[in-house]
Amino acid sequence: MRELEYAFPSAGACISRLHMRSKGLAGICRHIPILPNSGIETARVCTSGRSLRMEINPEFWGRLSEHDRTFILAHEAFHIALGHLGRGRGYPQQMMNVAADAITNDWLIHRLALDLSPQLLEQVITMETVGLENGSALSMEHVMSQMKFETCVQMLSMSTWASEHAFIGEGLADEQIRGVVRRLTPAEIQDIGWSPYAVEVRKDELQHVSMHAAAEIMRLLAAGRHGRRNCQQHTWIREPRRMSDGLLIPDADEVKNASGCHVRFYLDSSGSMNGFEDMLLGCTEELKRNDISVSKFWFDTRVHPCENRFMSGGGGTDFRCIASHAASSPRFDMAVVITDGYAPRAEVQNASKWLWLITENGSHHAVGHMRWKPISWAFRKRKASN
Ligand SMILES: [Zn+2]
Repeated sequence: MRELEYAFPSAGACISRLHMRSKGLAGICRHIPILPNSGIETARVCTSGRSLRMEINPEFWGRLSEHDRTFILAHEAFHIALGHLGRGRGYPQQMMNVAADAITNDWLIHRLALDLSPQLLEQVITMETVGLENGSALSMEHVMSQMKFETCVQMLSMSTWASEHAFIGEGLADEQIRGVVRRLTPAEIQDIGWSPYAVEVRKDELQHVSMHAAAEIMRLLAAGRHGRRNCQQHTWIREPRRMSDGLLIPDADEVKNASGCHVRFYLDSSGSMNGFEDMLLGCTEELKRNDISVSKFWFDTRVHPCENRFMSGGGGTDFRCIASHAASSPRFDMAVVITDGYAPRAEVQNASKWLWLITENGSHHAVGHMRWKPISWAFRKRKASN
């Protein structure tokens, strides 16, 4: 940050100000290099080798007010979030610049309500200046198809910074942008939920979390089949194999020993279970892919089968219903209960076959005498890589 401040005084303060309006755009600014370039008139995003960067002319920066500087940073980060850089194959570069800027500025001014000075407003391209309606939320390609060539030429003669972006062709910047978005916090990713990269990263994270949970369950199943009581010992004495990003994958032995097993899930339907459904579904799919059969139930004071998705009920929680449900059809290798634990003490037959996963802010008092783990043990998020 010190280097950044050296080239661009108050950049840190501007990013903090931007954070108040958009955590995601501020996050992008924090995760890509911002470099001085006197060879351009204003500012741009571009790629250099395999990395993405923002370049700003220091003199241009020096002339701007703090609000305008914040606007410029947001503008460049927005291009990244929407992947403007690598889109629009087959269109003339300058048209893409005009269309991308119209969309970007429209969003920043009308949706994000960022302040900018009348002087800067006069220079920037908006939807209105290309003859389209403000706030129309169109794609860059759509705007290009609607724009008249003469309008475009006129825009370019008016605005110095419409011609700055270096478009590099379809897909070429994708990997770099994905890398930047992956480093954002969940709140930052949520904030730029409109970005296709944010959607992708969330899906990717969901898959990671689901695979991790399935792998942990398979390891316990395999250890259980070996008749080892203390399965933690079994799994932790040797170095587990690691896939990228800290994902532990089970050994071939473990997968083989777990195949053919039957796992039953009981999801406590009280309100705090919200948000686990997709991860659980991902986990059950992953188990099925590994030849493990799965049945899914949700419960409150009674047990209900899940047709497809897990359902959400409400009301009280009573573990006696799952205990008697399991006892009445005991052909399973593991029963996994996801609960906040707020219910009277649980008693089940064959407690060694049960795994209790306690959700965040839950309590293990009711199940502490059995095998229980915090839910993050199974559904573990990837550590942000750097
Ligand atoms: Zn731009």
